[in-house]
Amino acid sequence: MKPGEFTFTMIKPTAVKLGKLVPILHEIDEAGFSVIAMKMTRLSRAQAERFYAIHKERPFFEELVFFMSSGPVLAAVLQKENAVEDYRNLIGNTNPSDAKDGTIRKKFAISVQENAVHGSDSDENALIEANFFFSQFEIYPHDEEYC
Ligand code: ATP
Ligand code: MG
Repeated sequence: MKPGEFTFTMIKPTAVKLGKLVPILHEIDEAGFSVIAMKMTRLSRAQAERFYAIHKERPFFEELVFFMSSGPVLAAVLQKENAVEDYRNLIGNTNPSDAKDGTIRKKFAISVQENAVHGSDSDENALIEANFFFSQFEIYPHDEEYC
């Protein structure tokens, strides 16, 4: 995987529970991203703490960890040129009430916390987050010969 050509996403527990997994994947596909790794899993409390460790001093950290470990998530690695920035634009502002029309969070989020999807905020974090969920044998970049 080349830096800059992939990002990591999670479809968060509420969106999965509300049946929005396939509609969100459809938006991702329509926007030109290729799914190169994907799994449904449920984070333990400890895993959610580790994934969001950067926010551990924030007042919402406890609630965020509780929420992110409350049910299954869909984790995926997405390939596209300029993936991190394009995906952040596709998902929209963290707070759905500030998100632009047409963005995934505007369409599917129910609150700033239960905001439907996660998207990496840098190429460096995209790699860290992809490696958090997937081994090298579970990611299938389109530029590699495997079929
Ligand atoms: P993510 O990292 O999930 O893609 P983001 O980068 O848009 O979201 P961050 O600032 O990294 O936003 O916040 C991480 C997550 O913490 C948010 O997606 C949201 O679920 C939760 N969060 C952020 N701000 C708040 C808040 N003020 N109150 C409650 N939850 C919040
Ligand atoms: Mg973030």
